[in-house]
Amino acid sequence: MDTEVHIVGGGLAGLVAARRLATDGADVTLFEREAQVGGRVQTHTVDGFTLDRGFQVLFTSYPAAQRELDLDALDLRSFAPGATICRPNSRAVLADPLRAPGAALESAFNTEVTFTDKLRTLLLRFGLTQKDSESFFNGPDIPIREYLSERGFSPAYVDNFVAPFYGGITLDRSLSTSKHVFEYTFRCLSTGQTVVPAAGIEAIPQQLARRARESGVTVETETHVESVTAESEGVTVATAETTYQGDAAIIATPAPEARRLSGVESIPTDTAGCVTQWYTLPEGIKFETGKQILLNAASSRPNSVVPASEVAPEYSPEARTLLNATFLGAESQTREPEALLSDTREALSSWYPERSFDGLELLATDRIPDAQFSQPPGVFDGLPAVDAPAGPVFLAGEFTEWSAIQGALESGRHAAAAVTDKHRTGLAEPVLRVQTFPAERRE
Ligand SMILES: Cc1cc2nc3c(=O)[nH]c(=O)nc-3n(C[C@H](O)[C@H](O)[C@H](O)COP(=O)(O)OP(=O)(O)OC[C@H]3O[C@@H](n4cnc5c(N)ncnc54)[C@H](O)[C@@H]3O)c2cc1C
Repeated sequence: MDTEVHIVGGGLAGLVAARRLATDGADVTLFEREAQVGGRVQTHTVDGFTLDRGFQVLFTSYPAAQRELDLDALDLRSFAPGATICRPNSRAVLADPLRAPGAALESAFNTEVTFTDKLRTLLLRFGLTQKDSESFFNGPDIPIREYLSERGFSPAYVDNFVAPFYGGITLDRSLSTSKHVFEYTFRCLSTGQTVVPAAGIEAIPQQLARRARESGVTVETETHVESVTAESEGVTVATAETTYQGDAAIIATPAPEARRLSGVESIPTDTAGCVTQWYTLPEGIKFETGKQILLNAASSRPNSVVPASEVAPEYSPEARTLLNATFLGAESQTREPEALLSDTREALSSWYPERSFDGLELLATDRIPDAQFSQPPGVFDGLPAVDAPAGPVFLAGEFTEWSAIQGALESGRHAAAAVTDKHRTGLAEPVLRVQTFPAERRE
C-alpha cells in the first residue's frame, strides 16, 4: 500500500493502528504529545519501586491482547482468581472453585456471601462463557445493579463483593455502569488470567512501540498536533511549527481531544476517574496476604487494596512490600494525600487487627480524573464509527469500542482496516461506512 498516513496519539490504539498500516506497506508517522508513548498506560520508578499509574491489569483472555501482543515476552505475573472481602475484624476469601480449587474450601465457608449467591455466580459464569462472543455489547442495556437484582443475587452479595470488585473495574461503585461491561469482564475473568508484566504495565505500550518501529513507523514524541484538516486530495496535520500533508490521518487521542480535532459530536466526553496511592512497609516487615485483591466491603475509602509485591515481586527492590490502594468518587480527587494514607492505614488496621500499619509509607499519589469515558447503559449504541469524520480522517481509541485495553487495541485494528479499505477502494471515493463494534464482533 503506497499511502502516507499520519497518526495523532501514541496510546495503545494509535500504536496498533500504526504497526498494522506500516506492516501493510504504508508510510506511517505517529505524533505523540508527550515525551513517551503509552498514553494512559504508564509506569514510573520511585526509590527502586515499579509504580503503574493507577491500578491497571491485563486480562489474558482479551482477544485483542492475544492478537496484538507477544504475551510470553511480557513475562506476566498472575493474580489469584477471586478476592478477599474485608471488613473490620473479618476477612473472607471468595474464589472460583473451578479455577482455584485450593481456595474452594475456604470460599465455601465464606459467610459474606450466601450459598445461593455462590451457585448463581457459577451459573452466570457458565452462561456467559457459552455466550456468543459477538453479542456482548448488543441489545437492551441496564445498570449492573439492576441486572444482578433481576438474576436474584442478594443485596449483600452485590454490596459486599460486586460493588467493590466491579466498582474497581468500572470506577463506579454505585454499579450504574452498563451491564455489557460487567458481562464482558466477568467472562474475561472466568476464562483467563488477570496479570501484570513483571516490568510494569508500561511494558505493553513499549512492546507495541518497538514492534511499530520495527515495522517502519516513525514516532515523533513531544509533538502536539493542533489540527487535522481533510482536503480534497488528502489531509493536513498541523503542529505549532509545521504542517504535514498525507493521504489519510487517524486521530487516536483521548475522547475530548478527538472530538475537538475531528468535530465528531458523538464522541463521548463524560469521564470516570480514580485516585491511587502506592505504599511500602518498613524493611523486613512482610504482608503475606496471598495474590488476591482485598476488597473493602464496609466503606469506599479505599475501595480496594492490592498486594502488588505478592503478585509481582519484581515491582519491589530487596523483597520490600508494595501495596496499592484505589479511591473512587469525586471527593477523593481533592482529598489530601496524607488523609488518603490515613484512610488506608485505618482500613488495613481494622482488617488485620493483629498487625500494625504505623510504618505504612506513602510512595506516590496519582489523581486520574479521566481514566475512562463514562459507560452508562445505552452508551455503546451511540459511539462513533472509526470513519465517522469526513474524508480521509479516521478515529481510533477506546471511545470507539469500550473503555479498556481490549477496546483500545481493537479500535487500532479497526481504524487501520478502515484506512486500508478506503485506500483500496480509492481515497477520493466515498466508501461504505465501516461500523465499529466493541469486542471481537467483526472477527
Ligand atoms: C487508572 C486507570 C486504570 C485502568 N485500568 C485498566 C485495567 O485494569 N484494565 C484495562 O483493560 N484497562 C484499564 N484502563 C483503561 C486503558 O488504560 C485505556 O482504555 C487505554 O489505555 C486507552 O488507550 P487509547 O489509546 O484509547 O488512549 P490514550 O491512552 O489516552 O492515548 C492517547 C494518546 O494521545 C496523545 N495525545 C492527546 N492529544 C494529542 C495531540 N493533540 N497531539 C498528539 N498526541 C496527543 C496522548 O498523550 C496519549 O498518549 C485503565 C485506565 C486508567 C487511566
